[in-house]
Amino acid sequence: MCPESTYSSEEELIEQLKNKKETFWSNESLKPYHTLGKNLPIPTEDLHEAEKLLQRFSPYLAEVFPETRKMNGIIESPIRGIPSMQQELEKRIQQSIPGHLYVKCDHELPIAGSIKARGGIYEVLKYAEGLAIKHGKLTKDDDYSKLADPEFKQFFSNFSIAVGSTGNLALSIGIMSAALGFQVTVHMSVEAKEWKKELLRDKGVVVVEHDKDFSFAVTEGRRQCQEKSNCYFIDDENSKDLFLGYAVAALRISEQLKQENITVDADHPLVVYLPCGVGGGPAGITYGLKYVFGDHVHCYFAEPTSSPCMMLGLATGKHEDISVQDIGLDNKTEADGLAVGRPSALAGRLVENMVTGIYTLNDENLYKLLALLHASEGISLEPSALAGMYGPASIDIHQQLDRIYGSRLSNATQLVWATGGSLVPKEIMEGFVSKGTSFLRQEE
Ligand SMILES: *Cc1c(COP(=O)(O)O)cnc(C)c1O
Repeated sequence: MCPESTYSSEEELIEQLKNKKETFWSNESLKPYHTLGKNLPIPTEDLHEAEKLLQRFSPYLAEVFPETRKMNGIIESPIRGIPSMQQELEKRIQQSIPGHLYVKCDHELPIAGSIKARGGIYEVLKYAEGLAIKHGKLTKDDDYSKLADPEFKQFFSNFSIAVGSTGNLALSIGIMSAALGFQVTVHMSVEAKEWKKELLRDKGVVVVEHDKDFSFAVTEGRRQCQEKSNCYFIDDENSKDLFLGYAVAALRISEQLKQENITVDADHPLVVYLPCGVGGGPAGITYGLKYVFGDHVHCYFAEPTSSPCMMLGLATGKHEDISVQDIGLDNKTEADGLAVGRPSALAGRLVENMVTGIYTLNDENLYKLLALLHASEGISLEPSALAGMYGPASIDIHQQLDRIYGSRLSNATQLVWATGGSLVPKEIMEGFVSKGTSFLRQEE
């Protein structure tokens, strides 16, 4: 259990990725936050505007999705200490993990059960608000619970929304759009799980199945949507609104950390590990966290060895102009949410000077971590959502942080972003756990 960073040139790095070796890439373009300063491409005021929009919709969400009522219609997840998992990881690497290990429970997010409940739902709500205001049916001072009236469902049914997805984005867009009354079509890539398609069909969503990967599903979805009138395409490869929906998480987390009596400053670093697919989720959250905590937060992205698209895009500087298939990888992984061969054009550029590093891990390790977390903490996640759990056990990351903080590293808060899992049907989850458990047994 440990990625390697023993390459010394871009060619060697690519060779290592090609051979599916677990790899750590340290970002040489990381810059101090204040030097990025006022010229950031998305002004940070936009983050606060995004948070306000979600506030305006909270009475509507509380009305339509009862599971959001205890949070007054705000879609948010808790953070939780996981000391038993920390011990398990320490036993495996025979080394202590500095500081305290926490998990951000986005698998518990209401409505969509994954991190996509942030970006996806935000973009649908923003589109709906814009339409309703433009047609004189709503003002920003109204009580938005009126959007649940049949009159609005009727109105929104004149418009359609489409998206391309490996599964989870389709769940979040599909469920939210259908509830508002939109016609909605989701284009699913080959990885998409059957249960996700069934759940969506039950909600009246049109599911189009493709036998190719994510990039194809997006391209095809975009094309079909453009041919229709009144069709709005939610573009996971380019969307600023998706990005902002994710970034709002950072504004809220500073309050949550305070409630746990966790300090973040020059002597108490916050280290965050984020699973990365096309990049919008982890990049949006990184963008927000850097705004809130500046240089005191360090964000690491995690990708499967078969789909290291963001590492490839950033390490070569080619962004969306290079894909994992270009270097001979197949982009096939059990981590369906991360099965992306080509990074977002937007996300990589927005965080190329903010992300501290990226590592890859293989599917077997995802399953082992899944079983370990299940056994030690009783937390059940889908395979993609475990990618971040590998980071705290990485010697490379430990050494990198040790060079900056020395003994102060023992004050660190290590936060693993758990990105999905609560909607996974019980039998399927049991299958994941037993697969992971048998991988662990084989080691003995
Ligand atoms: C989508 C997803 C991610 C990554 O988000 P991207 O925006 O695609 O990088 C991580 N984990 C899960 C479970 C996801 O569904």
